Amino acid sequence: MDEQDVRSAGPARHEPGMGSPEPVAPPILVSACLLGVACNHIAEGRPVPAVAALAEANRVIPVCPEVAGGLPTPRPAAEVGADGRVRTASGEDVTAFYERGAAHSVAVARAAGVERAVLKARSPSCGCHGIYDGTHRRVLVSGEGVTAAALRRAGVEVVSEEDLGAEED
Ligand code: SF4
Repeated sequence: MDEQDVRSAGPARHEPGMGSPEPVAPPILVSACLLGVACNHIAEGRPVPAVAALAEANRVIPVCPEVAGGLPTPRPAAEVGADGRVRTASGEDVTAFYERGAAHSVAVARAAGVERAVLKARSPSCGCHGIYDGTHRRVLVSGEGVTAAALRRAGVEVVSEEDLGAEED
């Protein structure tokens, strides 16, 4: 890469005499499954057109906290219980994987200057309005997934694809 390439590769180009550099909007953290990555617990994506449109118009950073936390794909479904622990239907405590994925997501958000995240609704990691209650009976309760809560505590505005008015493909 020569000097001209280096000058043209940065996010905020500024040539002498050309006025102020264009401001660059912060990137948006997005649940990777919402962009079609087959990373959910049954190894499928959950792409939605509104999130694809968001990615067309903005810089986005796809993350899958459960994969980043060290879980395989596919993997057993898990839910957050009333005690805050994350367990599979067979009772295995997988909280550490979820917390590791949340820490990774927060670290990425901080490193990239993320101010907003669009995360998959009802996920035990990514859900930001409601999650299943830990009984594995598909009982939805008010609450947040582990990553959504960690991002919110870190000052990131967290919304779901449903807040974008999104329907799945
Ligand atoms: Fe999608 Fe989040 Fe679940 Fe990964 S952890 S599959 S990004 S909802």
